[in-house]
Amino acid sequence: MRFVFLGLPGAGKGTQARILSERLDIPQISTGDILREHVQEGTRLGIEARTYMDRGEYVPDDVVVRMVEERLGEPDASKGFILDGFPRTVRQAQALEVALVELGTPLTAVVKFTISDTTAIRRIIGRYTCPVCKRTYHQEWRPPANDQLCDVDGTPLEKRSDEDELTVKRRLAIYREQTEPLERYYAERGLLRDVDAEARMDTVTERMLAALGDAV
Ligand SMILES: [Zn+2]
Repeated sequence: MRFVFLGLPGAGKGTQARILSERLDIPQISTGDILREHVQEGTRLGIEARTYMDRGEYVPDDVVVRMVEERLGEPDASKGFILDGFPRTVRQAQALEVALVELGTPLTAVVKFTISDTTAIRRIIGRYTCPVCKRTYHQEWRPPANDQLCDVDGTPLEKRSDEDELTVKRRLAIYREQTEPLERYYAERGLLRDVDAEARMDTVTERMLAALGDAV
């Protein structure tokens, strides 16, 4: 049970990854989280990543790939995993493929959550996150019970300051350029499953499970 989740920002892949992760009891692996952990703990890879981040540059593929490989080798990932936010480029996908072939554990499926640009923009603007438990909220569809506090732990929610419409459009353009070629890469390998994500969260979950069929 080894999955990669793809989709525009706002497609809900993080939420669906969390649901599938709990259902199958396999870890949801987000590169953003791994990167933050390495930097916080000051590991060798974290220090290396930090030098790029401090200059406002992207952390190079090989550093990210090494972090993911290390994470996939941990015991909780032996039964399976869901990669959320990785790979982002065909180069990363090739590196992942090589690493998984070496481990003898190829991918089971790649799920692509499809939404329109308009939906992506509407969903991203108005999104809040709890800095402690990482739960996400939305001012329209999933507001917290108490104004701006996390339902689970009461932590004040954070709004990402970079999420105005222009920034979102730039992120969509980067996705088109760098990540969309991945869809063809995985389609050619017979791994791609398309899920229409223009629906309520629970409907998308049903569609995802249907698309995965006997893989789960
Ligand atoms: Zn929380």
